[in-house]
Amino acid sequence: MAEKKKEKYEVSQLYKVRHSAAHVMAQAVTEMFEPGDAKVAIGPPIEDGFYYDFELPRQLTPDDFPAIEKRMHEIIKEGHDFKKQVVSAKEAKAEFKDQPYKLELVEGLEEGDEDENGEPLAEKPEISFYTHDGFTDLCRGPHVANTSEINPDALKLMSVAGAYWRGDEKNQQLQRVYGTAWEKADDLEQYLWRLEEAKKRDHRKLGKELGLFYFSDDIGPGLPLFTPKGEMMRHIMEEYVRETQTRYGYQHVWTGHLAKEELYKKSGHLANYEDSMYPPMEDDNVTYRLKPMNCPSHMTLYKEMGLHSYRELPLRFGEFATLYRHEKTGELTGLTRVRALTQDDCHTFCTPEQIEQEFTLALKLIREVLGRYHFDDYRVDLSLRGDDGKYVDAPEKWQAAEAALRSALDKNKVDYVEAYGEAAFYGPKADIIARDVLGREWQLSTIQIDFIQPERLGLTYIGEDNAEHTPVVIHRAVTGSTERFMGVMIEHFAGAFPVWLAPVQAVIVPIADRHIEYAEKVATQLKAAGLRVEVDTSSERMGAKIRDAQNQKVPYMLVVGDKEAESEAVALRLRSGKDEGAISLADFIARAQKDVKDGV
Ligand SMILES: [Zn+2]
Ligand SMILES: [Zn+2]
Repeated sequence: MAEKKKEKYEVSQLYKVRHSAAHVMAQAVTEMFEPGDAKVAIGPPIEDGFYYDFELPRQLTPDDFPAIEKRMHEIIKEGHDFKKQVVSAKEAKAEFKDQPYKLELVEGLEEGDEDENGEPLAEKPEISFYTHDGFTDLCRGPHVANTSEINPDALKLMSVAGAYWRGDEKNQQLQRVYGTAWEKADDLEQYLWRLEEAKKRDHRKLGKELGLFYFSDDIGPGLPLFTPKGEMMRHIMEEYVRETQTRYGYQHVWTGHLAKEELYKKSGHLANYEDSMYPPMEDDNVTYRLKPMNCPSHMTLYKEMGLHSYRELPLRFGEFATLYRHEKTGELTGLTRVRALTQDDCHTFCTPEQIEQEFTLALKLIREVLGRYHFDDYRVDLSLRGDDGKYVDAPEKWQAAEAALRSALDKNKVDYVEAYGEAAFYGPKADIIARDVLGREWQLSTIQIDFIQPERLGLTYIGEDNAEHTPVVIHRAVTGSTERFMGVMIEHFAGAFPVWLAPVQAVIVPIADRHIEYAEKVATQLKAAGLRVEVDTSSERMGAKIRDAQNQKVPYMLVVGDKEAESEAVALRLRSGKDEGAISLADFIARAQKDVKDGV
């Protein structure tokens, strides 16, 4: 059921612990240098830890960490209180007269438009210090009451990196020291394990090892190239979603890669989204754009298909179209942020009364698909209209749509969090956020109600009353984009995909060259049964061939020699290393087909 508020990290004990650890670290680092030589900038808590920015007489390295940690442990164990003191701007300037960054922050606070981290503020703040063990920082808290509340065994300095003052490369470069802090030593250990595991699972590294995709300087950043294996996976993923969508009553359309710029003017994308679009292309005095989104094209198609009656609705269009978005070079990361992305995008045209039914259908489909990909842990963020004026002024429509979404979620017993003021200006939406095996959250699916685009593009249907009405459009994506989802899948499964998704499901390993003929015969029969197989005809020894298939995370390895050839059998090994022994070919096919069906 709905929880009304997200749990606030900013008021949790862990947040206070991390913030306090940042101060303690700043004290320890400052003490390494002559008084006044270390300049301190900002030091906030962040997700999983904290950092502090310094300007120092020399470069710190991880070799400095043990000494800094040792001093931090001492300060923690001495049990110093954190004392707050509200001060005037004048007092603050006097305290930090030798600290240029703090002085600049005090000025921001004095002007009343920035907090002590230089972040914009809505109302004029009070200026306050927090002091422990003689170390005073410009800070509004919150902190733990005493340094002894920080667990020294759950604390670790992680890295040091360059960071520009106020994030601006024209400014002084500072040294940012990152640390992590937890309440229990166990939590720290688990966190370090998750980091290690995430590194091992990094899809950019695994993608190369498994031979799925490459990036090339000759093609350009953010434009991946997929190998035969990678494209096989894309095909399986898209085919699966397409088949599921068809089963749920969606119809697939095709609307190409380019459209006139004029279309995006009408739809409002050019006004709101131009930064993410590729520059215009001129041809015969007409300006075109690479398609950044499908919506305007699907709506245009709806219009071109002629007059629509309410009897035809809902009409559900799906498309696997590659869209082009001009992501900043610095923000491109492997497959999870690319410039050419293939969305499993659908648009449902319906009457306002059909919103609940269509939202329920989309929700059901999404849950089925995520389950197939072993994503069983997810939550729904329901984004609703807020109080400010940015929302389309149609209160009855909003109320009805928000009620429909809530009702659908409640009836389907889906947990959700309501976020007021988070909706797009054109309608409420639900985002499905899935947690992977490392507990990381990925926003994958989204269902979005739209009152505006259909009106802007002049869509209509003839209602029961014989009058013209504007349909509601529901935008919906299940896995988001094929590219990003593949990246997430590689990390979620550490490359060991379920049988149905593995680009190669079985490798047949002939023991000697004279067994190749039988191996090929087995391959033919498996292919005829719909399985994806390879025969390893290399001159490697059997052990090396098996190791290679294991490294490629192929689900089944089928070893064939004289005995197997005589009895129409295979010796089955799994990628886990388990040796299942001889099994008749017919039994193996039945087993593999069952594993595919069960989704294991
Ligand atoms: Zn602070
Ligand atoms: Zn859309």
